[in-house]
Amino acid sequence: DGDLTAANVDGAVEQHAPLCMRTLHDALVQDKHLKHSGRMQFGLFLKAIGLSVDQALLYWRMAFSKKTDDEFQKNYAYNIRHNYGLEGRRVSYGAYSCSKIIKGDAPSAGDHHGCPFRHFSSGNLEARLYKDKLLPNQVRDIMNLIQGSHYQLACTKYFEFTHPGHDRIDTIQHPNAYYELSVASAA
Ligand code: SF4
Repeated sequence: DGDLTAANVDGAVEQHAPLCMRTLHDALVQDKHLKHSGRMQFGLFLKAIGLSVDQALLYWRMAFSKKTDDEFQKNYAYNIRHNYGLEGRRVSYGAYSCSKIIKGDAPSAGDHHGCPFRHFSSGNLEARLYKDKLLPNQVRDIMNLIQGSHYQLACTKYFEFTHPGHDRIDTIQHPNAYYELSVASAA
């Protein structure tokens, strides 16, 4: 696939990222903005799939297209560099695991972070699954798992349904593991 750059992030995310990250990405494209929790969840994911800090600064600058350069530098650039360990305590932060995302603060209105399998209403989730071309019996399987609070199993099923021909996979524990599996399955 070559190196991940600001120019090819969108395609990589749309093709291979799990539903939590695609939800954030869709919101970012639509609103040209994400709130702090969403920027953290999505930004650290992008870092972990190989986006360098320079490319991340470019990417977010383009994505926040309604902000002036001045606003971007003041309000957002610091946090991006911080996530890469270039500011503050200079800790390089790791991407969030599924359990951190699932047990973390639930999104309120205007937020897009979290896990869709845990945090979407059942109506919204069903609509999303149909939009992603799942069949009625597949949607039922996933909704049954969610009723039993098996959110990561639901995500694992979602992977299997959207990557037909792929071998059975272990339960998804991390959004970046989902991404890596998806990239490998396309190779
Ligand atoms: Fe994302 Fe994990 Fe939820 Fe899947 S189970 S949507 S990878 S947080």
